[in-house]
Amino acid sequence: MPHAEPLSPARPSVPLLQRPVVRIVWPFAVGALAILVGLLLSNTLPGYFVYLAISAVIAAIAIMGLGVVTGSAGMIALCQLTFAAIGAWIVALMNIWHAPGGFIVWLILGALVAGVAGILVGLPALRLRGVNLAVVTLGFAAAADVTLVQIQFPGSADAISIDRPTMFSNDKKFFFLSIIVLVVCGLIVFFLQRSRWGASWKAVAFSERGTAAAGQSVQVAKLTAFAVSAALGGVAGGLLAGQVQLPFAASFTPLQSLALYVLAIMSGAHLIDMAVFGGILWVLVPELLKRWHIPQDWGFVIFGVLGVQALTSGTSLGQGIRNLIWKRQDRKTANAAIAALTALPPDASDDAEEIRTTTTATLDPALLSGEPVLTVEHLTVEFGALKALDDVSFSVPEASIMGLIGPNGAGKSTFVDAISGFLPKHGGRVLLGGRDLAALSPTRRARLGLRRTFQQDRVPPLLTVGGYVRFVSRRRLSAPDIEETLAFFGCPPARARLSSVDVGTRRLVEVAAAVLAGPRLLILDEPAAGLSHDEHLALAARLRELPQRYGVALIIIEHDLDLVRSVCPMLTVLNFGQVLATGPQDEVLANPDVVKAYMGETELLS
Ligand code: ADP
Ligand code: MG
Repeated sequence: MPHAEPLSPARPSVPLLQRPVVRIVWPFAVGALAILVGLLLSNTLPGYFVYLAISAVIAAIAIMGLGVVTGSAGMIALCQLTFAAIGAWIVALMNIWHAPGGFIVWLILGALVAGVAGILVGLPALRLRGVNLAVVTLGFAAAADVTLVQIQFPGSADAISIDRPTMFSNDKKFFFLSIIVLVVCGLIVFFLQRSRWGASWKAVAFSERGTAAAGQSVQVAKLTAFAVSAALGGVAGGLLAGQVQLPFAASFTPLQSLALYVLAIMSGAHLIDMAVFGGILWVLVPELLKRWHIPQDWGFVIFGVLGVQALTSGTSLGQGIRNLIWKRQDRKTANAAIAALTALPPDASDDAEEIRTTTTATLDPALLSGEPVLTVEHLTVEFGALKALDDVSFSVPEASIMGLIGPNGAGKSTFVDAISGFLPKHGGRVLLGGRDLAALSPTRRARLGLRRTFQQDRVPPLLTVGGYVRFVSRRRLSAPDIEETLAFFGCPPARARLSSVDVGTRRLVEVAAAVLAGPRLLILDEPAAGLSHDEHLALAARLRELPQRYGVALIIIEHDLDLVRSVCPMLTVLNFGQVLATGPQDEVLANPDVVKAYMGETELLS
């Protein structure tokens, strides 16, 4: 019955750009090409355009930063040019101090100081969201603006101009330098976006609870996004200081920060090419207005309208273009996924049939005498006057499957939230393998081996399946190991984008990723919601194998009693927040209280 072999339906071959070596090499190739183009442009563009081009590159770097904090991590930050001002200020200060290292070192220092400022500004983001965060960041920008007008840039009163590096002293050469800086920043952002940090930014943008349940600190995710974003702002400001050589506060106003934000939203700045495109728009729009003799302030209006369009349509330009290109490929991977789950090998369909017809999952009595992996004692949760959980006590043996059933509103999801640390103010005790979990955050509990999935979709759509699995599992997993487990659950291949996967399948990916984390206990809150009947049966067949295959104990919340009976040898019944019965399935189902509560559920009595 168990399929030791991974299911291997025909999966489409890996596209060229997704192959491991190519994946590492191509960003560098693109970077090298960009530097070549920069070299060519710097030698051919007329002087005036060179100056504009430097401005475009600087704006692109600042927008790239917004792509991290807003585009990826989903937080509104309206003070990007304040971070730029900090970078410029540090460069100006180092300049009058004649600090060692020269311009490049000052630039890096400015980025670091701006990054620290980013963390400070990010601190309120740990508590604030949406409009409130926007107000705080805009307030910071306004305060910094006033301060800057007062104190001015170091050396500006004496008109001490900022020394460019000797190699890049004229505008043409400085443009080439700014292209190199852009490429370096682009590569750093590219690889950060694909790192654990990048995954955590995209996760936190979609669901903070989902992020915490994956064992990732929400605070770290937000603060790293702010720090990286602000550091890029600092680089942009430092370059600007080198470009104009006499920076003034007027280049860093809150209104300009707002316009930059709108450009980032509109272009889809978490995509590096679109950040560059945004940078080009940043100089192109005012330039065109100038040529057409329209007051340049209209530029803000144009950016505003474009921003409203992007916000109301819900897709940025870059994402829209990507979606068009990806559509065909997505259809292929989605089909492969459906094939994986429903076109089971012959023995597996027998298994699914067996699930439908067998009445009882068998219980290994040895399990009951072992150490429980989870012990719940007198767990009580109150929402105001409502007792959602009332003195709940039971335990789950190591590597077993416990079904948690009960009518809607019985307190099942509340139970999962309390166990996984999302409702810290509960009565009673929760022990994981003898360790009291009191006062431990959801993140800590996840790292200790207590994983959960959610009844609602909490799988971040900006990640690929593989990126999500690596993020959730927090382990070094080989590509074949990941593919094997994905195939086992009938998930799309690792390279598929989660945004192209339907909700039911996303929930399977969520389960697969949680299993790959190697937890001791995994709580599944209605994992089959959104699946068809056949997929439902196929999933049940997989769940039944998990304890043996991965050494994990399961608590499964599920409505379909047939499935519960065939998959869960142990049962706990909740009703109005209280435990009606808990223990081996046959005892629980024979319990008169349970029978009474489920009166009318004839299936149970058959
Ligand atoms: P189940 O998952 O078994 O359907 P829940 O745990 O979601 O039930 O809910 C149990 C009870 O607690 C319900 O009456 C629900 O309305 C209530 N409840 C759940 N969450 C909250 C909350 N955050 N605030 C107030 N009441 C809640
Ligand atoms: Mg529920």
